[in-house]
Order: sequence, then structure tokens, then C-alpha cells
Amino acid sequence: MTADCLFCKIISGDIPSNKIYEDKDVYAFHDINPAAPSHVLIIPKKHLHDITEAKDQDAELIGKLVLRANTIAEEIGLTENGFRYVINTGSDGGQTVFHLHLHLLGGRPMSWPPG
Ligand code: AMP
Ligand code: ZN
Repeated sequence: MTADCLFCKIISGDIPSNKIYEDKDVYAFHDINPAAPSHVLIIPKKHLHDITEAKDQDAELIGKLVLRANTIAEEIGLTENGFRYVINTGSDGGQTVFHLHLHLLGGRPMSWPPG
């Protein structure tokens, strides 16, 4: 738990969330301001500021994050039509919450390239 981190407070329950999955390493919840019909955030319980802070010792954790996202995508019915994963990183990447999170977006066609 890192003080003053919004997502650490969501993991601890100090701030409520619409949780859809939790285990000892990973937490997943619906985005409060969805950018698509389905918009889930999958986060490590370990506080990492962004994806660049992930090091060799985090390889298994990052793998778990993505594999859990795959399972959630399947469970909420996104696998057939497809979906998008996004990890915004830093200011040019559009990151606004500095606790690593994987966006799972689906339920509508996505355009490319991102704005
Ligand atoms: P990013 O811009 O990649 O850092 O994404 C941060 C995401 O967190 C945004 O999509 C926000 O809508 C979402 N968000 C911010 N506060 C909350 C919250 N309290 N509960 C759920 N999602 C949140
Ligand atoms: Zn945090």
C-alpha cells in the first residue's frame, strides 16, 4: 500500500469499487468512467508506478495480469468479437493514475491509431 495512491486505496477497500475479480496478486474492477460498453481495469496489488517499473522479478506478476485479463474478457463475452488492451504510460501515454493498470475495452469497434 502506497499512501495517497487511489488504486492502492481501492485494493484495500478504503475507496469503494465495482470489483469483478480478486486474488492474492491481482484485482480487477469496472472503470468509473467507461470509454466503451465494457471497460475493466486489471491491476497488480503490488504498487508499481507504471509498466516501466516492472522488473525481472515482476515477470510472473505481469503474466498473471494479462492472463487474468484474458479470462475476464472471456467471462464478460468479449472474446468472440475482440477487444483492446491498453497500458497508458507517462504523460504522452495519457496516464492519469500512477499505479500500473491494464485497460480492457470492448463491446464496440475500436479505431486506430489512438488519438
Ligand atoms: P489512465 O488514464 O490510463 O491512468 O486510466 C485511469 C483510469 O482510472 C481512467 O479510465 C479513470 O476513469 C479510472 N478511474 C479513476 N478513478 C477511478 C475510480 N475511483 N474507480 C474506478 N476507476 C477509476
Ligand atoms: Zn498504488
